[in-house]
Amino acid sequence: MTHRESGSYFVALGGTEEIGASCHFLHIDGTGILLDAGADPEQEGADSLPDLDLVRSRVDRWVDHVVVSHGHHDHIGSLPVAIKAFPHVLVHMTRPTRDLCEVLLPASAKLQRKRLMEGSSTAPPLFDVEELGAFSYLYLVHELERRFDLTGVRGRVPIEGRLYDAGHVLGSAGLHLTVETTRGDRTLFFTGDTGARAQAIIPGARYPEGPIDTLVMEATLGADPEAELATRRQEEIRFGQALRQVLGAGGSVLVPVFALGRGQEILALVDRFKRNGTIEPDVPVFTAGLMRALSDVYDRSRFYSPRIDEAFQCGSVPQERLPRNPATVVSALDRPGIYVVGSGMMFERTMSNRIAQEMVEHDKHAVLLVGFARHDSPAHRLFDAALQRDGAGDGATVEPQITLEPLRGPQAVRCRVDRFRFSGHSHRRDLLGLVDRLQPKRVILVHGETRAREWMADNIRFFHPEIDVFSPAQGETVRLWD
Ligand SMILES: [Zn+2]
Ligand SMILES: [Zn+2]
Repeated sequence: MTHRESGSYFVALGGTEEIGASCHFLHIDGTGILLDAGADPEQEGADSLPDLDLVRSRVDRWVDHVVVSHGHHDHIGSLPVAIKAFPHVLVHMTRPTRDLCEVLLPASAKLQRKRLMEGSSTAPPLFDVEELGAFSYLYLVHELERRFDLTGVRGRVPIEGRLYDAGHVLGSAGLHLTVETTRGDRTLFFTGDTGARAQAIIPGARYPEGPIDTLVMEATLGADPEAELATRRQEEIRFGQALRQVLGAGGSVLVPVFALGRGQEILALVDRFKRNGTIEPDVPVFTAGLMRALSDVYDRSRFYSPRIDEAFQCGSVPQERLPRNPATVVSALDRPGIYVVGSGMMFERTMSNRIAQEMVEHDKHAVLLVGFARHDSPAHRLFDAALQRDGAGDGATVEPQITLEPLRGPQAVRCRVDRFRFSGHSHRRDLLGLVDRLQPKRVILVHGETRAREWMADNIRFFHPEIDVFSPAQGETVRLWD
């Protein structure tokens, strides 16, 4: 019998050195499960995909089920490709995540085609809008904390899953697995992206009870010592004051956001600031179509998906359509306004990048960063440039520059740049607290830059020398339990 249990292991299929494509393979006694099917947001076409060949090229590996933790691109962007690669899979998620996928995946297909047509990418689209419709019958939705079956057709032991509210964005969930082996139950918890603390719309995460055997944990903020120092309340006040100062002096504010999650949370804060008089109630708020479509899913699900205030609706916050034409953006910037637009990391060819190009050279405007930006992203480079300028002191001649768009070349950074801690991710002390609570025998660290995972690994080993900690590279096998 022992050979049966020896076959349970984990393999990361996406890159693990950066916040890339989240996609992990579990082989559990004859059942194959994918945790997420993401794509790397900074790559295109096949380069953005997790390495599904790590499963496909081996006769002893297959996929029965995909469990999707939440709707961010780095977690769902390769789902249609995974479904085509493993045509018999069933896909499990929460109901809001399914509704978000039905907005986001067609939007991704259209964007890929558009980029190919306009010549900004040479990568052929990975999937079409037309084929996506046929996939949605594979999506099975589950209520939070209700048991569902994940045993594969060749599975030798029963596997049961349960989704737990992950407190990250609408619909986000962690997955708890119970595996009935011949030597007793084995348990695993996959955090997905997780936020332990309440945001403006979404309450903090709920977690299962420990002890468990194996914890597969995200480590996004593992290298960020400041995140745990700021309280959300202080950050909200500071953010409100920044808006008030810039708008009051006639400038405009760009808040680069992920269209899913941060965008809606910022709308909720702006709504609060308008009601309590922090900013003028008639300051226009500009948003783009995709974010509004996602806000609709937030509003529709407010009675059946965890919420701080069921009465709040993103749709009741007045919003203006973002001007499409660059010249119109320039003239719109003449009067104070708030631009809540993607992408959060200000990648090239996105609205936040285009608007930032019109703002950075003017000291009356501000770019206020409100989410995670990886260190090589334009948002992070802009923050560093402003820090260099502001740190240089009076009388300094340094005028740092930034290249937001290579065709435009370097631009002087004169606008205000500030960063606020509104992350939907747990800071690293909260992640350590989760380890304390779940008392796992093993921790597998995923979804964090190298130094973030190193900090987490060192600290888990320091506080819990009895725990085996792994930081696997892409393709490396980690046994789930003995
Ligand atoms: Zn996420
Ligand atoms: Zn993520």
